[in-house]
Amino acid sequence: MTFNKSKTVKWGEEPKLGWREAMYLPAIASGLATALRHVFAGKTTTRQYPEVEPVIPPNYRGVHRLNRDEEGRVKCVACYMCQTACPANCIEIIASPAPKDDPYWKDRDKFPQTFTIDELRCIYCGMCEEACPVDAIELTSIYDLTGYTRKELVFDKEKLLSIYDATSKTGKDPVRTNRGALGPASEEAATASQGPPPPGRGSHG
Ligand code: SF4
Ligand code: SF4
Repeated sequence: MTFNKSKTVKWGEEPKLGWREAMYLPAIASGLATALRHVFAGKTTTRQYPEVEPVIPPNYRGVHRLNRDEEGRVKCVACYMCQTACPANCIEIIASPAPKDDPYWKDRDKFPQTFTIDELRCIYCGMCEEACPVDAIELTSIYDLTGYTRKELVFDKEKLLSIYDATSKTGKDPVRTNRGALGPASEEAATASQGPPPPGRGSHG
């Protein structure tokens, strides 16, 4: 098959650079003009972070936490939904069958033997918490994540549970926690005793 190159491709002319452009003089002058304009406009803002913490939106998606259930166990049922939904492939879960003879796990088929999230690889899209059928994984509003090595920022199950403990005890639950009508799983829990969910909401899990 042949195609008419002149009709399908728009060719641009390569700009011709003089000595001024080659030495970036117009670009430097333009950048300085922009900086001076902002300086003399009197609208400059200097952030005093970390002495003054910034006000961030309440629905900010920051560091993850793994929630606990009413009995203090990890709420996650190791269904792999979050790992499957994650576009950055930064969640790794190894599931174990719940011990049948252990009353602690009597109502569970599986639990996460290990659960890790690479917080540096994550793009904080929130797909994991949307995918979770039991609201076990949530993104908190913690934004100041620091570490000396990349390995430190691969959070394991214990670390993720400790973030739940810290945020729930200090009243820093994400706004999406127990969000009722806005959260499919929460909504199901809330409406379980009140009849079927509203139209448009399917079942999860
Ligand atoms: S926020 Fe997005 S990228 Fe990060 S772990 Fe969840 S699904 Fe993956
Ligand atoms: S989607 Fe929820 S329950 Fe399933 S593995 Fe992820 S955190 Fe656990």
